[in-house]
Amino acid sequence: MKLSQLASIFFILSCCMLSLLATAQDDVVDKKQLTTFDSNNAFEILKKQCEFGPRPPGSEEHKKTRDYLFTELKKYTDTVSLQPFTAAVDSFGIPKQRKTLHMNNIIAEFGSSHSETLLLAAHWDTRPIADKEPDKDVQLNPILGANDGASGVAVLLEIARILKLKPPPRRIVIVLFDGEDYGKSTDQMFFGSRYFAKNMGKWKPDYGILLDMIGDKDLEIPIEQYSWVANREYTDSIWKRAIELGLAPFQYRIGPAIMDDHVPLIEVGIPMVNIIDFDYPYWHTLEDTVDKCSPKSLEIVGKLVVNIIYEGL
Ligand SMILES: [Zn+2]
Repeated sequence: MKLSQLASIFFILSCCMLSLLATAQDDVVDKKQLTTFDSNNAFEILKKQCEFGPRPPGSEEHKKTRDYLFTELKKYTDTVSLQPFTAAVDSFGIPKQRKTLHMNNIIAEFGSSHSETLLLAAHWDTRPIADKEPDKDVQLNPILGANDGASGVAVLLEIARILKLKPPPRRIVIVLFDGEDYGKSTDQMFFGSRYFAKNMGKWKPDYGILLDMIGDKDLEIPIEQYSWVANREYTDSIWKRAIELGLAPFQYRIGPAIMDDHVPLIEVGIPMVNIIDFDYPYWHTLEDTVDKCSPKSLEIVGKLVVNIIYEGL
């Protein structure tokens, strides 16, 4: 072999090694990018739910949304189940008449080999009435629920995508509650979380986080009071983490006490925190639409939850 041949072999080998190195580095960058919370992706999931229209239990749109959410979650884990139940609900406009509706919680599990379990929850149904509308004539119309419904689900589905790519160091159970937002009295709300609290079985978590109304463009999240009163240290650690991460909409002050899906779980002894921005002028009106929400708000909440999943508290 001539010296020139040797030189060219050496040259080719070094090129190969350099390109391998570059590929490895690209992989690291790609992986990091792919496992970072993607606000645009999350916002597309919010919009997609709204494209079905209002999604109250008993409607065709509700069924279509259930199938869509089930299929989406199935892309990210094999363990997705429907938890069916029935609820006796108000027939609006017909006093004292109840009807039975079929509802489903949608449950997905990740990192099943770990025993410590973090529950992540949001409600996927939307309210069948717009009772906060000033105009009485439209108060019996169903709301779109871009923020009150679609926002929490959007964040959790984007997180499910990340969980598939980067297995979590603890078991994560995602529950999408049905029947959170039905009637006017609290016995006509939280159907799904009340059913789940009584029938947790193998999904029983050690602690949990509920996301509700977190898509508001003008995001402000004080500490929710029921969460704080029930489990002060746990709640405190979540807000402190948000502040450490520089997520300014999280405000370290006690906000209002809000009856929501976390309460039935707190009642059976699960430390459960509600991340919610209740200061939303379009709440339970026909104006709760996509344009009132922003990808940035979903990202702020998503970043915090992703951090807690992988770093713990
Ligand atoms: Zn609501």
